[in-house]
Amino acid sequence: MRTTAFHLVTRKETPQDAEIISHQLMIRTGMIRKLGAGLYTWAPLGLRVLQKIENIIREEMNAAGGLEMLMPAVQPKELWKESGRIEDFGGQLLAIHDRAERDYFFGPTHEEVMTDFVRNEINSYKQLPINFYQVQTKFRDEIRPRFGVMRSREFIMKDAYSFHLTPESLEATYQSMKQAYTNIINRIGLDFRCVLADSGAIGGSGSQEFHVIADSGEDAIMYSDTGEYAANLEKCEAVSLLNERKAPTEDLQKVSTPGQKTIDELCDFLKVCNKQTIKTLLFEGVEKPVALVVRGDHSLNEVKAVNLAAVASPLRMLDEEEIKGITGCEAGSIGVRGLDATIIVDRTVANMNDFICGANENDFHFSGVNWQRDANFDSIEDLRDAMAGDPSPDGEGSLQVARGIEVGHIFQLGNKYSTAMNAVVLNEQGKSQALEMGCYGMGVTRMVAAAIEQNHDDKGIIWPANIAPFSVAILPMNYLKSERVKHAADELYENLKAKGIEVILDDRKVRPGFMMSDFELLGIPHQVIIGDRSLDENQVEYRNRTDMEPTKVSRDTIESMLMDSIKV
Ligand code: ATP
Ligand code: MG
Repeated sequence: MRTTAFHLVTRKETPQDAEIISHQLMIRTGMIRKLGAGLYTWAPLGLRVLQKIENIIREEMNAAGGLEMLMPAVQPKELWKESGRIEDFGGQLLAIHDRAERDYFFGPTHEEVMTDFVRNEINSYKQLPINFYQVQTKFRDEIRPRFGVMRSREFIMKDAYSFHLTPESLEATYQSMKQAYTNIINRIGLDFRCVLADSGAIGGSGSQEFHVIADSGEDAIMYSDTGEYAANLEKCEAVSLLNERKAPTEDLQKVSTPGQKTIDELCDFLKVCNKQTIKTLLFEGVEKPVALVVRGDHSLNEVKAVNLAAVASPLRMLDEEEIKGITGCEAGSIGVRGLDATIIVDRTVANMNDFICGANENDFHFSGVNWQRDANFDSIEDLRDAMAGDPSPDGEGSLQVARGIEVGHIFQLGNKYSTAMNAVVLNEQGKSQALEMGCYGMGVTRMVAAAIEQNHDDKGIIWPANIAPFSVAILPMNYLKSERVKHAADELYENLKAKGIEVILDDRKVRPGFMMSDFELLGIPHQVIIGDRSLDENQVEYRNRTDMEPTKVSRDTIESMLMDSIKV
């Protein structure tokens, strides 16, 4: 490709609304352009990268036995009524209707359409197991679309769905998808972790996410420093930090705490450590209000909270009025003694003694509170966020924290959708049986942004070799005036092209400094600078985008050197 025949529009300025580096660089290189909130056009440059990622995904999915197909993006609302998921997805669903006033959604995911396809196509165990996938556009009306294609409203996902007679068969395919995802991200060239995850609105029994490690990642990933355990913070098990509950040593005392509303204020005022206090938070319950209790230095994990049977979904904290109605006090003085709510305590809280809590009376707290003697709880659950330094829940080492970008999520759904939508097959005994199902999503457009988050410097993108839009950039100095430079550049260009190398030759009439900084920004892995001065010595200058160290290479060897380092 010659730049004059390509669409190359780079920008020096950092776009104002781009908070993270990948978004900034994708706009500055001209890979994407914004059309509206969460809507992006992929320009030819960006599409080259996107298609490389799609190809890697397709190759690995095919190798793992996946069968590619394509479902409609627009889905009849009736299907979603069958699965009962309209409420779960809520405002994320883009509702559309046609001229006959029939209702549709622009698909945010395809479990329903897929289950409908399978219930019509598959009726015997002999057709199982089977794994279908597609690479397709989704729409989710995200509350806050941001970070460019990282969290857009329209995006491309690879989604696969497998069907089985038995949970064992599902488990086997799940493991092979896990391996395929590992292969895909390794081939793309990114540093990632596979972690235990919450199953969210998709549902099912177990799931794992694939996270590309990057400081800008929206998720916290907890992992053992010596063992195998790794989980999204949302899911990460938090163990009790107290092995056993000690006997009471203090008497219960009501202490005056005027105006002390937060845990920090209270601890300053009473000159105690926050580890001696508890936080009691009131939520809407399914039957009656639920108090969730964590230690003063811990934070409630909202995903764990909403997953509790007694807690109403979506999670809703009681408002001032409601709190007053139940306790007679404001939020800062709620406590567990005499509280009329279902009281669920965190594992650590269950083992505390001599602790401090609100007195359910404004401006008063209790100190020296002890379970059984002074207050009771209904049950013990894992309620808090795990923290760096906590013992790993598998007993191996302690937890560390990293930030991650979720690029993939694999689920064992079991028969959730097949039962709801009556997707059954006849088993070997001729009996009708609900299908076991797995689903496997990967964010294709998000992967491009994640790759940049992990591979850039202050000059621009540093593309991993397998997804670079071009492998080699030829940057001739004075191409339009020097016949010799033009000849050398064209010759190298044609030879590389003939060998199947993706090469771009910059034949624009621009200053050398401008050209070089453009290609640093674009992040092309191998850059060859051809100028009269080096040609005098029958040489060209080679720079690798990872270090940009200039090296003189003889014209006779540059081609074979490039071929060796690219290995088509
Ligand atoms: P997130 O927690 O980031 O919203 P999710 O759990 O809703 O993701 P899934 O339903 O598991 O995502 O979708 C599968 C994959 O699709 C995700 O792993 C992610 O890579 C991608 N994806 C989801 N939402 C978006 C979005 N708004 N923009 C870009 N990619 C997305
Ligand atoms: Mg989401």
